[in-house]
Amino acid sequence: MSMDGVAVVGAGTMGNGIAHVAALTGLDVRLVDVSEDQLAQALKAIEKNMDRQVRKERMTEAERDEALARIRTTTSTVEGVKDVDLAVEAVPEKAELKYAIFKELDESAPDHAVLASNTSSISITEIAGRTERPERVVGMHFMNPVPVMKLVEVIRGLATSDETTRAVVELSERMGKTPVEVNDFPGFVSNRVLMPMINEAIFCLMEGVGEPEAIDTVMKLGMNHPMGPLALADLIGLDTCLNILEVLHRELGDDRYRPCPLLRKYVAAGWLGRKSGRGFYTYDA
Ligand code: NAD
Repeated sequence: MSMDGVAVVGAGTMGNGIAHVAALTGLDVRLVDVSEDQLAQALKAIEKNMDRQVRKERMTEAERDEALARIRTTTSTVEGVKDVDLAVEAVPEKAELKYAIFKELDESAPDHAVLASNTSSISITEIAGRTERPERVVGMHFMNPVPVMKLVEVIRGLATSDETTRAVVELSERMGKTPVEVNDFPGFVSNRVLMPMINEAIFCLMEGVGEPEAIDTVMKLGMNHPMGPLALADLIGLDTCLNILEVLHRELGDDRYRPCPLLRKYVAAGWLGRKSGRGFYTYDA
């Protein structure tokens, strides 16, 4: 299956990173968003991030210019996906929104095109069930920041075909990533393992077992984690963490995934981590 043209639907944090790496791989990229402003900001972010790679001599100026020229933007999903081989959806983590977009992608993308979601926790099988091509629907879970992080968790829905899986595994490798194939269960592997650890660190804080710095230092120096779980939760966003824990709790029906009350309290207060300036730590604007 040839993969030359890709649409990235949603030009936020993850969408601009995916477009960046796809353009550097030599793919023709259509970046789609409902907001013109967001598209302009995404292009600016991609240019800034590529400039940094030029300064670090990881690419030449000519390579940057060629990659940027391969990205076209549009606010029309129909226009954006009409002749692509792959569409990667990276809109906000809301199930109903994703279902609606996949219906639109299914109607507008060519029959042969693979439809992928970058979802962190929504069932690929359920998304696929909204389309007429469930065998060509798959999860491509990139990590943040996309140009830096090596992993792509490739998630097979119940109906995802071997051919589709093979195509996105090969494409991920072309993009310089390490794809890992997993099956569709709540939280996949990444968040099924990460979120309970973060949640337990928050319980430690709530119960007074240790201060945030103590908890993070134990995990950094004792377990060789590059970042402590509380600092990582602040980076991911505490609302996002709560959201994913709620999915795990609801879908797996096991109380070991119950979100820590302190996490709920922080989110209710608007202490969402780095993006709001305050979470388990405080951040300068
Ligand atoms: P974001 O809020 O930064 O970006 C989402 C973008 O989608 C926005 O620009 C918004 O304007 C656009 N959008 C909304 N509705 C749309 C529509 N109907 N059509 C086209 N565009 C639309 O979100 P994000 O952090 O980039 O997350 C995107 C997805 O990636 C989510 O599913 C999230 O769970 C997943 N994810 C996020 C991270 C992370 O660390 N941020 C990591 C892995 C996976």
